[in-house]
Amino acid sequence: MSLILNLLVDKKGNRVVCAEADSEFVDIIFSFLTLPITTIVRLLKKKSCVGCIDSLYQSMENLHPKHLQSRACTEMLLHPLSNSEKLYEGLAVKYDERELGNSYLCPKWACVRSKSLVSSVKHARCCCGEVMDRRVRVGKPLGSCGGGGEGDGAFVEGDSMFIVTDALRVMPDAAETFTSLVEELGIEAESDLEEMIVTISKEEVLKILKRALISESPLSDIFLLNLKLSIDEASDGKSKIDTHEKGKVETKSRVATKSNVKSHVKHIDLSHRSGSETLGWKLFDHMH
Ligand SMILES: [Zn+2]
Repeated sequence: MSLILNLLVDKKGNRVVCAEADSEFVDIIFSFLTLPITTIVRLLKKKSCVGCIDSLYQSMENLHPKHLQSRACTEMLLHPLSNSEKLYEGLAVKYDERELGNSYLCPKWACVRSKSLVSSVKHARCCCGEVMDRRVRVGKPLGSCGGGGEGDGAFVEGDSMFIVTDALRVMPDAAETFTSLVEELGIEAESDLEEMIVTISKEEVLKILKRALISESPLSDIFLLNLKLSIDEASDGKSKIDTHEKGKVETKSRVATKSNVKSHVKHIDLSHRSGSETLGWKLFDHMH
């Protein structure tokens, strides 16, 4: 599954100004807001690069079950549920291939009939002592915001169009929105801008998710860098560079354009770092 996205690129500044996106793309990036941090780590194969959360996840994977109260604890910690799971079925690109929306019953029908106990976590212990492993699919959860079915979308109205900035700011598609964005970015002439059509499949969605955690320009990071890489690969015949390496190369080129980067980082190193400064440090860190 994939979708097409129109990007408006500032060629001079080598940056994505914005994407003109329909509800399918916006549903996907809004769904990032519903993901538990553990799900993000799992989707990014423990390379989220967000602090030490990858290491924390890894330690839970490695911990012997004898140190836990039950097998359900492992399931609960490594596969936490999101209230929006059912809605993910309405996404145009399903980037989480894990089977979602399951519940579990006690294997004893007497328990199911008399107590109506249902667990959202596999391997939970029923009050009768049995492990609740009988899987059932649940319907759309009560209180759902509306979407979730095939063709229903998930969060935003299906016929809406949006402008999505490089920093994933989502705004209704309107002439005045675009004009103010161009002014905000200091783009002087429309002749500097070029349209670029890209395909968004699962791989791109996961790249956007990853860059959204550590960068303020995920669309430029991915699509303008990919353009350079494809040219490089064609010229020297090198095989595909993995996502981690791509991020590394891109970060280097963007940060290196700032002539004061070293003194900036030095300053961060000596001071108490705020959130944005931490990002600056992390970007520099990736250059090595
Ligand atoms: Zn039972």
